[in-house]
Amino acid sequence: MDVKILPALQDNYMYLIIDNATREAAIVDPVDPNSVLMAVKEHNVNLTSVLTTHHHWDHAGGNENLVKMIPNLTVYGGDDRIGALTNKVQHQSKFNIGNLNVQCLFTPCHTAGHICYFVSTPEEGSDPAVFTGDTLFLGGCGRFFEGTADQMYRALIEILSKLPDQTKVFCGHEYTLQNLKFASYVEPENEEVKKKIAWSESKRGEGRPTVPSTIGEEKLYNPFMRVTVPAVMRHAKATDAIQAMKAIRQEKDNFKA
Ligand SMILES: [Zn+2]
Repeated sequence: MDVKILPALQDNYMYLIIDNATREAAIVDPVDPNSVLMAVKEHNVNLTSVLTTHHHWDHAGGNENLVKMIPNLTVYGGDDRIGALTNKVQHQSKFNIGNLNVQCLFTPCHTAGHICYFVSTPEEGSDPAVFTGDTLFLGGCGRFFEGTADQMYRALIEILSKLPDQTKVFCGHEYTLQNLKFASYVEPENEEVKKKIAWSESKRGEGRPTVPSTIGEEKLYNPFMRVTVPAVMRHAKATDAIQAMKAIRQEKDNFKA
């Protein structure tokens, strides 16, 4: 499996997922169809599918134009508000991109129909990847526009945290440094936060993306993946993890980095 990172708009990422064995490919959240078309030509792949994480325009807004430019695309998503949707999926829906296996994870909260896509290869030795849209960011999570802290707890702790630690995390936006500044406010003593800030500053300084991280890494520095950890609960003045999730999300909504 190969994943090409395609920046779009201000700070969005689209991802071209390539099955090296068959040259079949899928695109995640193709908001900029022209740039997708260029990448398809450059890498000489057969684009067959669109994986839509959620209906917001900066993720799904290119679907309708892309299906006009490339016929016979299958458009996956978990929400009827997604443009050009052909295949509505739900939790644990499965399909393939060439030989790659895709498993859908229903993670409502940022929007009521948000889906994350877990992609793995049949061969040993190649790490799986998860495309998390605006549910899980590097160092943070999406706003709770259409859901509750309870739902984000389920998404981050009960679903995404249980994926293999080596799973690569490809998220919808380059928000890493802003998120980590908040993380260091929540956990000023956390050395992993400091290390990731230094690393991210150097990446961004070279004009390069901070994606991907891994699920294992996120558990070390992302406060929203750490709501069960005593230091985060103490900061949130919470007695349980869902309360902590609610409290730190509210705090982040008003946080000025
Ligand atoms: Zn969104």
